Amino acid sequence: MAIRTLDALELAGKRVFIRVDFNVPLDEHGGVADDQRIRAALPTIQHAVRARARVILASHLGRPKGREEKYTLEPAGERLSALLQQDVILADDCVGDGVRKLVKELQEGQVLLLENLRFHPEEEKNDEAFAKELAGLCDVWVNDAFGTAHRAHASTAGMARFVREKAAGFLIQKEVEYLGRALASPKRPFVALLGGAKVSDKIKVIENLLAKADAVCIGGAMAYTFLEAQGVPVGRSRVEKDKVELARALLEKARARQVDFLLPVDHVCGAEPKETAKREVTPGREIPEGLMGLDIGPKTLDAYRQRVLAAGTVFWNGPMGLFEQKPWAEGTLGIARAMAESPATTVVGGGDSAAAVEEAGLVPKMTHVSTGGGASLEFIEGRVLPGIQVLEG
Ligand code: AMP
Repeated sequence: MAIRTLDALELAGKRVFIRVDFNVPLDEHGGVADDQRIRAALPTIQHAVRARARVILASHLGRPKGREEKYTLEPAGERLSALLQQDVILADDCVGDGVRKLVKELQEGQVLLLENLRFHPEEEKNDEAFAKELAGLCDVWVNDAFGTAHRAHASTAGMARFVREKAAGFLIQKEVEYLGRALASPKRPFVALLGGAKVSDKIKVIENLLAKADAVCIGGAMAYTFLEAQGVPVGRSRVEKDKVELARALLEKARARQVDFLLPVDHVCGAEPKETAKREVTPGREIPEGLMGLDIGPKTLDAYRQRVLAAGTVFWNGPMGLFEQKPWAEGTLGIARAMAESPATTVVGGGDSAAAVEEAGLVPKMTHVSTGGGASLEFIEGRVLPGIQVLEG
């Protein structure tokens, strides 16, 4: 079903409530450590400002238990003000008389940022009265918080029933277009790269991709559960013992579907998952007793790289190793570089892989880097995201 987008609406003079995702990491002084999410919301905010809307922004930040000042959206508001080059009015709450008064006084083209929605537990409970109160602040509800689109909270889903007009912001529109298109009609060959710690987190994603991809390349700790399922010695590597059977079934499914299922053919190992551990590269698939696999090896990286370079579409989610520590980051960085070089449509699911691409300065070289970790995975699993579903119709 079609989703109505922001550019289809007349916004002048209207109170436009935009649910953004300003859940940004903070530094030790309480400042914004990374403003990627604020930047990602700018096209929608700027469109509303230029259209002379009275702009009301709302977001959550962190997981406060009630009102906790360290989770204030003030630093995010200051950064937004600098990026927009205009004043951003900060409310000290997101509901109540004071907020209603600020909204009433809001002029066309002005921006008001409400305080952290999660200062009220009703937000996450998707409380009806709370959703109604938020809806009462506006004429138009715009959801542009892709990072929380997989949650049915008052501001991400509940409000939709009580507003006259609703639309997806440009960020959600872009995420749906790229994550949706990558799966619905991929240019072939379609190569999926999956990494990260656990098979159990990615079962649905793997199953869904086995129905669509031409090749699936596995890295990260979850590779060892698959190798164990094949009877390959993996030393002290992380293995999910209770998922070995499942890994075997997925390998069988891949064979039946004639999907190339690539596992590491060599590894970078250490005696323990520490920066100071000695780096040892195995000549083959087996990992000696006493060592643990902490990154894909150079032969594996080369094999995956060739797949990426020859692909029509690449989707990547999850690091290839313990990339937060330099000795084990080469595989993850190598994949990011290969994707940057590839002529394919390249889509990076959010979370750790997006962070690695960002750190390598390669975001502009990708077709799309998703801003939502959990949300992009659920999307790729084929699930309907509540924050997007309510925009339909
Ligand atoms: P996930 O949240 O499942 O995507 O897992 C990401 C985490 O898995 C990151 O913190 C990685 O450092 C970690 N990881 C990836 N590969 C390994 C590995 N071989 N050994 C230990 N941790 C790993």
